[in-house]
Amino acid sequence: MKSFKFKSLLPVLGIATIFATNNVQAEGRLTVYCSVQNSVCEDMTKQFSQKYNVDTKFVHGGTGTIFGKVKAESANPQADIWFGGTIEPHFQAGELGLLEEYRSPLQAEVLPQFKGLIESEQGKFTSIIYMLALGFGVNTEKLAKLGVETPQTWEDLLDPRLKGEVQLPDPRSSGTTYTVITTLSALWGEEKTFKYLKQLNANVSQYVKSALVTSNLARGESAVTIGFVHSYTTEKEKGAPVEAVIPQGKVGYALGGVSILKNARNLENAKLFMDWVLSKEAQEIPAKNHKVYQTPTNVNADVAPQSTKADALEFVEIDYQKAGSSDEGKRLVDKWLTEIKLAK
Ligand code: PLP
Repeated sequence: MKSFKFKSLLPVLGIATIFATNNVQAEGRLTVYCSVQNSVCEDMTKQFSQKYNVDTKFVHGGTGTIFGKVKAESANPQADIWFGGTIEPHFQAGELGLLEEYRSPLQAEVLPQFKGLIESEQGKFTSIIYMLALGFGVNTEKLAKLGVETPQTWEDLLDPRLKGEVQLPDPRSSGTTYTVITTLSALWGEEKTFKYLKQLNANVSQYVKSALVTSNLARGESAVTIGFVHSYTTEKEKGAPVEAVIPQGKVGYALGGVSILKNARNLENAKLFMDWVLSKEAQEIPAKNHKVYQTPTNVNADVAPQSTKADALEFVEIDYQKAGSSDEGKRLVDKWLTEIKLAK
């Protein structure tokens, strides 16, 4: 995908909404693997359940964790649909034959800059539901105690005064760190990226799940974290001394994916759920009900004022063919394990 600026991408007017699910009287069951915030998973599945009369349950897990389950359970899938999480592992699952083909009519309502991606082969299995910007979260009280200024660049995180004060997620359970690796590789090349991550090891206290990284920051257990910046806005609104920082230069980002699992037992309900989560109505729920300000990718959805001011940003280019290939995903996570985690 080419780098883009949101400003130049005006909403497409007049897209006919083929979606007419209000009249649908579905019934039966649905099991959702859910890789967004737990409270959002709970609310979305409950609203879907009530709206469409479908007994819906969810299992929560980070993108890496759910991808692992989808692979392990391929002979006997335990869920029907995978909702949320960074899109590359969804694409990798599609390539491995673990997903059911479904092009929702609502793909027509995706923001224009993602049309090319969704019309590609990868879009046969996976649709796009949101966008997240990659940056840092800082605990301002902790930084003040350390006498360290707010980091503005990736290199600033190498400051020796931040020893033991940095956290980022483990890419085996989380999609966030895969985005870190692909973003830095797009900016600097892979060799420099791994050199940087090795140097950063000196300041990292631990690699944990992404939700824990964020709550540790809010509690002041760390001074700086790497993650998607909307998570820090949520913590700030809840009263934590936390600020979100978008690093200087081109910005990394992730897209949220949704995919139906191969041999889903409740295929029609999975399609209905996919259509609904792509709709304007569903995409506005995280911001309206949960202070979760991811950027909706339905062109008609309202964008909360707290969401990333995407028109001020220039994003890195991500090669989804490469980043979404299962060999590449495995290679990079294995490399991180041997060269970064085990070297710590
Ligand atoms: N989707 C949303 C909406 C998120 O907020 C995050 C993390 O902040 C992710 C996906 C990625 O989560 P993980 O790194 O646990 O896979």
